[in-house]
Amino acid sequence: MIVVIFGAPGAGKGTQSKHIVSNYGFVHISTGELLRNEVRSCSALGKKIDAIMKNGGLIDDSDINEIISSKVPGLLKTSNVLLDGYPRTVSQAKFLDSVLFSLPTYNLRVIQIDVDVEVLIERISGRLVCKECGATCSAVDKCEICGCMTFIKRSDDEPSVVTQRIEKYNKVCAPVLDYWHDVVYRVSGNGNCQEVSDAIDRIMTDDFFLKRIK
Ligand code: AMP
Repeated sequence: MIVVIFGAPGAGKGTQSKHIVSNYGFVHISTGELLRNEVRSCSALGKKIDAIMKNGGLIDDSDINEIISSKVPGLLKTSNVLLDGYPRTVSQAKFLDSVLFSLPTYNLRVIQIDVDVEVLIERISGRLVCKECGATCSAVDKCEICGCMTFIKRSDDEPSVVTQRIEKYNKVCAPVLDYWHDVVYRVSGNGNCQEVSDAIDRIMTDDFFLKRIK
């Protein structure tokens, strides 16, 4: 099974991904995390995408598609996969379809977390990441992953960049939901973390959601 968790920046994709991974045994692929690791390690790809990411732009479909095709088919042989942050364009969704069609069987579902724009901006303005490992944390005194006590703001979470990222989401990313309309399950993400997790649980245990499509 492959589940795509979809939503604007600040919708809670990362938080709800952790919930899905720990309760339903999915392998989590966050393209944003993978790309931030590339930047941190100063790889050739990292150097190429650093400025784009800082400015809240999207990196080239070809670069991101290559990462996906090198990981997803192998992982799907043994695990359910949760994609967080991919696809972000209709062209990426079409690419993922082509990767999946080449597999003997799969079940693709999309969970859309829908959040009002004012809530998104408020959430992102309070979002911090651990300086050591890059894990996303909010209002904590110690990173839950590595124990580091120093936090920084993601450069693409600066207020001037956030509005631009939300606009880009509406223009470029949201059309993916129309493209895949028959496999999209929507939850409201305006509530607190537990309320959103409960709504996701109702979807994840729904017979139709679990039904194989190929
Ligand atoms: P995220 O952590 O998902 O918010 O992603 C952070 C940044 O990584 C985005 O603002 C983009 O610059 C880049 N990124 C992540 N996933 C993709 C993708 N599927 N396509 C293009 N750029 C991406």
